[in-house]
Amino acid sequence: MKKLMETGGMKRRVLIVDDEQINRELLGAIVSQSYETVYASNGEEAMNALSGDTSFSLILLDLLMPVMNGFEVIERCQADDRLRRVPIIVMTSEKSAEARSIRMGAVDFITKPYDVPEVILARCERIIEMSEDKSIISSTERDKVSGLYTRGYFFAYLQRLAEHIEAPMDALALDIDRFHLINELFGRQEGDSILKRTGELISELLCESDGIACRVESDVFFIFCKRRDDYEPVVAEIQARLREGSRSRNLRLRAGIYNFSDIDTSAEACFSRAKAACDRIRGRFGALTERYSRELHERTVFHERLIGDIHDAVKNRDLTVYYQPKYKILGDRPVLTSAEALVRWNHPELGFISPGDFIPLFEHNGLIREVDRFVWREAAAHIRRCRDRYGVTIPVSVNVSRVDIFDPELEDKLAEIIDDFSLSPADLMPEITESAYSDNADRLIEVVNRLRDKGFKIEMDDFGSGYSSLNMLTSIPIDVLKLDMQFIRNMLIDEKSMRLVELVIDIARYLEVPVVAEGVEEEAQLNALRDMGCDIVQGYYFSPPLPADRFDELLEKEYQK
Ligand code: C2E
Ligand code: MG
Ligand code: MG
Repeated sequence: MKKLMETGGMKRRVLIVDDEQINRELLGAIVSQSYETVYASNGEEAMNALSGDTSFSLILLDLLMPVMNGFEVIERCQADDRLRRVPIIVMTSEKSAEARSIRMGAVDFITKPYDVPEVILARCERIIEMSEDKSIISSTERDKVSGLYTRGYFFAYLQRLAEHIEAPMDALALDIDRFHLINELFGRQEGDSILKRTGELISELLCESDGIACRVESDVFFIFCKRRDDYEPVVAEIQARLREGSRSRNLRLRAGIYNFSDIDTSAEACFSRAKAACDRIRGRFGALTERYSRELHERTVFHERLIGDIHDAVKNRDLTVYYQPKYKILGDRPVLTSAEALVRWNHPELGFISPGDFIPLFEHNGLIREVDRFVWREAAAHIRRCRDRYGVTIPVSVNVSRVDIFDPELEDKLAEIIDDFSLSPADLMPEITESAYSDNADRLIEVVNRLRDKGFKIEMDDFGSGYSSLNMLTSIPIDVLKLDMQFIRNMLIDEKSMRLVELVIDIARYLEVPVVAEGVEEEAQLNALRDMGCDIVQGYYFSPPLPADRFDELLEKEYQK
């Protein structure tokens, strides 16, 4: 404790500002046990004391005072580079004033009538300690880009602020949709200026009373604000004003909301629920806000269960690989030539879980790497078995998640698997979803080139679903184009989709790259695709994904013909 109260044999100094003598005396009696005290009876006197001497370690400040009130003192200190570092504790009996002063820059409150002296002293000590940890605090208090608080500071403030606010509050998570595209299309400077503007608009429109906000990660903001019935109009206004001042006219926001007054839930958990609600409307057109709901809660619990169980699922082989055949359709009859490996999870208690439920979840937290490595190895073992049994090599394409693209061991891992089963790299085809291109084009180009140098053939999955399909074609050398299923679904209903399929097949022909159409369910689709010159077809029309033994039966039939 001594360390806190004395520097080089000199006591630290605390400025006590209150217009009532009795308060000054009361506080002085408490604080002077440990600190040297200086007194001022109004804001002006305080500023005079501070102007000659900035070596104060703390200011204890009353708010309502004649001549110059406490708010003005806070304002002046905040405007002064040398005084800004001196922490201010506000002494007040008025709740609304507390919140306002915190927003202005005070760090804590002591409510009148005064608490137990030990508590007051302990608070002063803690605040001084915190402020002397200057290097951390001053550099991390504000996020330079948005001007809002940083995450750490936000939660530290929140803890104090929440104790003093009685009005019902909400936790909001606000996200800019596909922000990385803004950076990509218009440059980082435009991206930064949008973040700055978002920070300003949040302060103006959501934190106007009793609220604080921070930027938690690149384009995600947390806001603690007074409850509203409907956040849609205010989020719409922020969105409209952001669009007005920017080159990205289609900029879209989404916000998730959670009731902060839920006392059983920690502040961090409240915001993580708000974020979960926010993530839920990702990609849902027209939806700007979503409240965390019971259903979402159950989903979160379900997801946590999946995360907890995946490791054992791999070990216990609850995870299996299905194979969906692909047929060459341009000859006399369709011929089974290759397959796609698709993972399946049969959970001992929850039953069959759809990849749609766990793949995006595991992509989000990186666990997909474990799943993918398992699937690649299984697929390689299966290619080997087929070759040994039937004397044919059926290349299998395996999905390579966007997360794997960032895995520095990706190429080595694939090469090792190929080696272990004495296969050639062309037998195991990495299938990469087109949207990975907009995540990080440079990285994808680099990885694709490296894989191709090693002899792998790259299949571009979901082609046409992303924003940069054509861009991508000119910058990435690929070996197979897999048309997005949506086009096939719509091609017989909608002329435009039909034209697009035709166009993609033409482009692919020009690039001398075969096209796979997936999701083909009807004969009419098959015929249309054949007429356009599409090479390969995958879909329920021929076969759904099959367990390995059923796939083998198909293969046996095919090659005994
Ligand atoms: P994808 O790679 O585009 O796989 C094609 C999906 O379409 C598969 O769904 C397949 O069962 C389904 N499908 C095939 N033919 C038809 C059809 O005629 N009609 C319809 N409606 N659907 C058809 P599945 O197996 O549910 O997988 C969904 C997605 O999950 C896959 O899309 C892929 O992105 C991902 N996925 C599956 N297995 C893996 C894996 O092992 N690793 C990774 N990273 N992702 C995987
Ligand atoms: Mg695929
Ligand atoms: Mg696909």
